[in-house]
Amino acid sequence: MRVGKYELGKTLGEGNFGKVKLAADIRTGRRYAVKILDKTKILHLNFSDQIKREISTLKLLRHPNVVRLYEVLASKTKIYMVLECASGGELFDRIESKGKMDEVEGRRLFQQLIDGLSYCHDKGVYHRDLKLENVLVDAKGNIKISDFGLSALPQNCREDGLLHTTCGSPNYVAPEVLANRGYNGAASDIWSCGVILYVILTACLPFDETNLALLYKKPSDVENSPESPSIINAFELIGMSSSLDLSGFFEQEDVSERKIRFTSNHSAKDLLERIEVIATDMGFRVQKKSGKLKLIQEIRSQRSLNLSFVAEVFEISPLLQVVELKKSFGDSSAYRQLCKRLSNDLGTNPELERQNSSSFALNSTC
Ligand code: ADP
Ligand code: MG
Repeated sequence: MRVGKYELGKTLGEGNFGKVKLAADIRTGRRYAVKILDKTKILHLNFSDQIKREISTLKLLRHPNVVRLYEVLASKTKIYMVLECASGGELFDRIESKGKMDEVEGRRLFQQLIDGLSYCHDKGVYHRDLKLENVLVDAKGNIKISDFGLSALPQNCREDGLLHTTCGSPNYVAPEVLANRGYNGAASDIWSCGVILYVILTACLPFDETNLALLYKKPSDVENSPESPSIINAFELIGMSSSLDLSGFFEQEDVSERKIRFTSNHSAKDLLERIEVIATDMGFRVQKKSGKLKLIQEIRSQRSLNLSFVAEVFEISPLLQVVELKKSFGDSSAYRQLCKRLSNDLGTNPELERQNSSSFALNSTC
C-alpha cells in the first residue's frame, strides 16, 4: 500500500488509534515508521485536541534521543504521522526477552534517556507518560523517546470507557501526581525515569501493582499508637483503588457504598478529634482503638444498634491525609448523610479534586 511517497510495510506496533507500520520512501528507500490514526475513532472519542497536541509537540522537538516527526499526511479517513523509525522496538520488549542489562549498557541508555528528556524539558515539554513501552530503541541501539501527548487525555477516557486501554501505567507515576495537588512535570518525569532505570537494571518493577492485595495491606495496627495515623505511600494508595482509574479515587468506590474515602488537609490528630466531636454531636458513642475510631449509634428506646462505622486516617504527607470510613452496620442512606457531613466539614474541596483528577487517568498495562 502506498501513502504519498511512502510504501507501507509490516506492522511495527499497535497504538490506541491504529497501527504503526514500517514504511520506505519510494525514491530513496529510506525507512520510516508511519503511525496511522483513524479519524473517525479520534473524532468519536474526542481525542482530536490530544492528537493535535501530540503533533505540534513533536514538531518542536529535534533531538537524537527523541523520535522525530518528519511530516503529517491525511486522507479522508486517516491521519499518517511519518516518524523516524526505531526498528529495535520498545525497551519493554527488549528487557522482557533479554532480561536485565549490565550496568555499562544500562548507564549508556539511561544517559541517553536523560539527555533526550532534559532537552524536552528545556523546550517546556513534559512527557507525563514515560515508561518502558514508550521508550524505543533504534537499529543502533540508541534510545528514542516516543508517544508524546497521550498521557493527558483523562476526561475523555473516563467518559467513553476506554480507561483500560489508554493512558499510562501506575507503576511509573510519581506520588505527587497521585496526591492530586498539582505537580512539577519535570520532577514527575524524572520519577518515571527512576522507575525505568530500576527496571533496566533488575528486570523487575520497583512498585509492582500486580500485587494489589499486598499493596492494599495497611501497616500493622500493632505498630500504631492510638493517636498516630497509618502512614501509606502512593503505591499503597493505588492499591486501595478497586480499579486503577484514580480519577474517582477520592470518591466513594464500593458498589455497596460501605467504604467511603476523602482527602483532608487537617492533621491526623485534628481529624480524629473532629470526627469524634461531629459523631458525638450526632449521637454516636466513640471507641478508640489503634489509631482508629469505632463509632456506634444506638436507638435508645429499643436499645438496638442503628448505625456503626469505623473511621481511620492514613497519612500521605503531613499536609495530606486520606480519611476512610467503613460501615459495619446500618442503613445506607443514614450512613451516606453522615459521610457527606464529615467530608464536607473536613475534606478538601471535592470540586477541585474532581477537576484536578480529570487531567489524568491510569490503567494497567500488564
Ligand atoms: P499510542 O500512542 O497509541 O500508544 P505509540 O506511539 O506508542 O501509540 O505506538 C504504538 C507502538 O508502535 C509502540 O509501542 C511501538 O511498538 C510502535 N512504534 C511507535 N512509534 C514507533 C517508531 N517511531 N518506530 C518504531 N516503532 C514504533
Ligand atoms: Mg504508547
